Amino acid sequence: MAEKNVYLFGDGEADGNAEQEELLGGKGANLAEMSSIGVPVPPGFTITTDICTKYVNEGREAAFKNIRDEVEEGIKHVEDIMGKEFGDEEDPLLVSVRSGAAVSMPGMMDTVLNLGLNDDTVEAMAETTGNPRFAWDSYRRFIQMFGDVVLGIEPEEDEIDPFEKAIQAQKDKKGVENDTDLDTEDLKELVERFKKVTKEYAGQTFPSDPWEQLWDSIAAVFGSWDNSRAIDYREMQGLPHDMGTAVNVQAMVYGNTGTDSATGVGFTRNAATGENVFNGEFLINAQGEDVVAGVRTPHKITKKGSKEWAEINNISEEKRKKEYASLEEKMPEAYQQLHKVQKKLEEHYADMQDVEFTIEQGRLWLLQTRTGKRTGAAMVKMAVDMLEEGLIDEKTAVKRITPEKLDELLHPVFDKQALQDADELTKGLGASPGAATGKIVFNADTAEEWNDKGEEVILARVETSPEDVAGMASANGVLTSRGGMTSHAAVVARGLGECCVAGAGEVEIDYKAKKMIVNDEELEQGDWISLNGNDGAVYKGKVKTVEPEISDNFETIMELAEKYSDMGVRTNADTPEDAERAIEFGATGIGLTRTEHMFFEGERIKAVREMILADDEEGRREAITKLLPMQREDFEGIFEAMDGYPVTVRLLDPPLHEFVPQDEESQKEMADELGVSFEEVQAKVESLEEQNPMLGHRGCRLGNTYPEITEMQARAILEAAMNCKEDGIDAVPEIMVPLIGMEQEFTMQKEVIDGVAEELFEERGEEIDYKVGTMIEIPRACLVADKVAEDAEFFSFGTNDLTQMTFGYSRDDVGKFLDIYKDKGLLDDDPFQVLDQTGVGQLVEMGTERGRQTNEDLKVGICGEHGGEPKSVKFCYRNGLNYVSCSPFRVPIARVATAQAAIEADEE
Ligand code: PEP
Ligand code: MG
Repeated sequence: MAEKNVYLFGDGEADGNAEQEELLGGKGANLAEMSSIGVPVPPGFTITTDICTKYVNEGREAAFKNIRDEVEEGIKHVEDIMGKEFGDEEDPLLVSVRSGAAVSMPGMMDTVLNLGLNDDTVEAMAETTGNPRFAWDSYRRFIQMFGDVVLGIEPEEDEIDPFEKAIQAQKDKKGVENDTDLDTEDLKELVERFKKVTKEYAGQTFPSDPWEQLWDSIAAVFGSWDNSRAIDYREMQGLPHDMGTAVNVQAMVYGNTGTDSATGVGFTRNAATGENVFNGEFLINAQGEDVVAGVRTPHKITKKGSKEWAEINNISEEKRKKEYASLEEKMPEAYQQLHKVQKKLEEHYADMQDVEFTIEQGRLWLLQTRTGKRTGAAMVKMAVDMLEEGLIDEKTAVKRITPEKLDELLHPVFDKQALQDADELTKGLGASPGAATGKIVFNADTAEEWNDKGEEVILARVETSPEDVAGMASANGVLTSRGGMTSHAAVVARGLGECCVAGAGEVEIDYKAKKMIVNDEELEQGDWISLNGNDGAVYKGKVKTVEPEISDNFETIMELAEKYSDMGVRTNADTPEDAERAIEFGATGIGLTRTEHMFFEGERIKAVREMILADDEEGRREAITKLLPMQREDFEGIFEAMDGYPVTVRLLDPPLHEFVPQDEESQKEMADELGVSFEEVQAKVESLEEQNPMLGHRGCRLGNTYPEITEMQARAILEAAMNCKEDGIDAVPEIMVPLIGMEQEFTMQKEVIDGVAEELFEERGEEIDYKVGTMIEIPRACLVADKVAEDAEFFSFGTNDLTQMTFGYSRDDVGKFLDIYKDKGLLDDDPFQVLDQTGVGQLVEMGTERGRQTNEDLKVGICGEHGGEPKSVKFCYRNGLNYVSCSPFRVPIARVATAQAAIEADEE
């Protein structure tokens, strides 16, 4: 039997199916699938990707030799179904020729429409449609497309496209501005102009023989596989160059041939709410793009939807029926058929479909079906509804969730209508999701004060520091002009579940004058602004926000995630409130408590500053002892909230300069308060200054130079745990040493901690369990992980610092070049947001593996911002980490991601 190269579809049958994407391309396979389940698609045929490969390698002759008969048969097949003939001078069949590779390459390759038109068939088309203008307009479009795609007519450099030039000449002659102002006679003249262009630029007359048009077009579409656009696209996407494209030849159908024709788009369920109702829009006597172009108001498909729409727009029922009748009312038969088809498609694909359809003289055709895009709320509702309807199973329901979209359900969003009228000032990074509006203030204390007075505020800072945390918490949102996705502002705001736009470089803040300038616009303290933490937009004025509501469907999805996940999800939480919220969202422990902000509240900062100012160990000890009871209380609160769950507390991490004021006025205040001279304070602040604080005296380097800090913190943690135990609370402390690069840096700190524990246990005559482990956030620590793990009971990858130090990108300055790097294709994602699996990921893998070589029970987690990012979470799962830890509001996202990772692993 001869080899099969052409696959027919149409009239309820098809040679191919959806599985054959490699051979038939995505479009061809899908058309075959639709046809064979009885969906009316314009009939046609697909020439396989193998022929493309042959065409590319051996040339046109060799490729076409074997498919002549098959293509002729294909056209015959289309003619039979359509009852028209190719090239017929009374009722001609017209076709489209389109590319379609296995992987979608949007707009990269070529398409020819209205093929089959010539001076004779155009007249026939004018006759059969009763619309000569439409026929001639189709013809001139065809010549232009053919000239462009097949004959390769391109403008010379610096010249405008010759076809566009011809159109302009025609319009000038008529004295009109728009193409739509050209009538039939003008279009006829334009066709002549186009033919001249073809002759002049391609050196050949436009072929009037439909068969010649067809073969040339097929060749051109195959050839477009190797045009430079397509090659560049494949290079960029990492797609292979040898897949080839299929060619789809399909009968043209028109929704603009009269009042019994229409075109539209439909959704099998409501894409905004998820409600199980068919909906969509259409236009009578129109082309596909008219529906979306907004020139005419499209009508609703269903009568119900139409009535709702009219009500919202204040249109009387009488007027609605007359001017905006639904498809259901206007073309009841076609509607009934469409309704059946959409249901069939949804059942077949077991997911919400977005369909494009055309009705040509009363006859329904489906042009396309694809899985429909949806909001977060709709995504959750559809998954649960379809599960209950028996359309999908539990695992599929979990897989239907795009985890990051759950964010939309947990944070306030802008009112859609209000957003339309909003005045966008600038854009930064969408660093923490949600929408917020408030009066601008420029310092954290003002934020607190104003909030206490009942004002809604947005805190705007160049960047934030631990000192600002209370003010940040009082604000509805935070805006910074500097910093990336792991800057202090971004990390803290995510922890608070508060909206944050970071690194908005166009915002110039003047603290002294209490104002900010954004692109010539001046805003003063007290002016309203609004922030969108999802996309980083900053708006002038007050934009209305809407609160989210957690639905039962959301709970159902969380229960399913729980059922299928076998990996822990902990939270990064610094306060009992954060911890409680995270537990509500399903966290099973704290993976990171940052202790630095605890140093700022009330009296504490005074003691901290005394410690910093002290000249010797004795002085430091004296000051730091004052902090002990306060720290202990902090930890008691957290242990109580986390009763029974592990709590990982990290020892002090930031450089000390963050705890002293940088401006003169505050330094004077500090001097007064501590009873020392201003000069002394100033000298101390200067001595703490560092060129690269992120690489400076911080992390365990502090603990190893001032072990008394570690002693105090270890004691506070362990005493708190013991006190809790006495009250019947099951405290599970894990003490974590930050920023080690050498194993000795860890063991030295561990000795201090164990020493405190021993002393304490002896004092109290009882012992408790505790663990000592370390953060792995310096590349060197990954390399010597086997040595570190000999003494460490757990590792937690601090992928914020690990990314910073592996790439050598400052966490706080990456915003300066990130977008440029993304535009140039150097980076796909912000590596501080999405873990760089190729580079940084290797270190995570190596660190885990080496650590477990010497300590097979080593518990390994991640607590950098990547712990709440779905792709990174899945990477951690695949690499055998025990848990991920993320901010409370990202716990649901991480839970779904871990469940999906488990399901995916199971399926493999
Ligand atoms: C990290 O570096 O990934 C981390 C969690 O610590 P921090 O962000 O506090 O430096
Ligand atoms: Mg760190």
